[in-house]
Amino acid sequence: GSELDRALDLIVEIPDFPEPGVLFRDLTPLFGDAKAFARVIEALGEEVGDGVDRLAAVEARGFVLAAALGYARGLGVALVRKPGKLPDVAGRVDYALEYGTATLELPTGSVREGERVAIVDDVLATGGTVAATAELLRSAGAVVTGVSVVLELESLNGRSLLGAVPVHALRAV
Ligand code: IMP
Repeated sequence: GSELDRALDLIVEIPDFPEPGVLFRDLTPLFGDAKAFARVIEALGEEVGDGVDRLAAVEARGFVLAAALGYARGLGVALVRKPGKLPDVAGRVDYALEYGTATLELPTGSVREGERVAIVDDVLATGGTVAATAELLRSAGAVVTGVSVVLELESLNGRSLLGAVPVHALRAV
């Protein structure tokens, strides 16, 4: 396979994490391998394409990907946080998890009105996290141009939460 395939093959399947019956995909070895990480960032950059003003990502692994990609492409990053971390919040969104709810917050001043923003994350599962991020960005006046992830868990159909926003995954399983 290609260099990108070899990089993505570093992702490990962990059965029964975080709970019985769930197959967790662990990207730790990919983040730890300089060549594989560089290849993944390059491929994400191709997916993000042109006509984007900024990236957005959710802590924590999303930050690592977006930081490298933003540096490579010359794009700033809107850093979406879990609740209680920010002194000045432009917007907050609650969203449903499989069990319970979660909240995300956008720092004030992260995006400008009309800016075209691409969301980057490691894994698209149910899509709740990325859909909530898109909602936050839109409330702040941004246009969400696309979602780029390393891995998409297709059976969870996360794309369905994203409407017409294009989703690019380097690998779908
Ligand atoms: P979603 O909101 O269900 O799409 O979950 C996506 C978020 O949870 C992402 O930010 C991922 O970092 C994390 N996540 C969900 N499933 C996995 C997994 O199997 N491996 C690693 N991260 C995951």
